[in-house]
Amino acid sequence: MPLFLPKKRFRRVTDIGYGYLKKNNIKALILDVDNTLSTHHSQTPYNGVDKWLREMESKGIKLLILSNSKKRRVEPFANLLKLDFLSLGCKPLPFGLIRAKRKLGFKAKETAMVGDQVFTDTIGANLCGIYTILLEPIKYEDGKSFKIRRKLEKRIIAKYERKHKNER
Ligand SMILES: [Mg+2]
Repeated sequence: MPLFLPKKRFRRVTDIGYGYLKKNNIKALILDVDNTLSTHHSQTPYNGVDKWLREMESKGIKLLILSNSKKRRVEPFANLLKLDFLSLGCKPLPFGLIRAKRKLGFKAKETAMVGDQVFTDTIGANLCGIYTILLEPIKYEDGKSFKIRRKLEKRIIAKYERKHKNER
């Protein structure tokens, strides 16, 4: 399986149902922040995120935030959502992801990385054998480097869609 392809795509984090996780034997989620749980740099959780998190926890899914951002951005947000966190995650390099997986206490294939970026979240998790769930960004970012990455991602997503077209 190519490193840049996610196992599964959803639109929003709140679209991930417990039934899907159970069916795929996923027991823990590593959660990205920017454009996954909130818009880029926002301290306000996206609609329904808090309720979704509490529902996952009530079903026994273990949750942890792993962000590439600094502690001062991640900590207040994680505290607000009452979640444990790791900042400066260095995704797509494996060590932050491996630390997160160890903290959660499950095997790599029982742990899913949930994020919106192929070049950090998906590639990093694939390098570690962690299950990959790719979301659509809540809101597209400004800035040249983001625009280039998002353009490349579109080609990868098209490839994913071709591969999975018979599943729907
Ligand atoms: Mg993100």
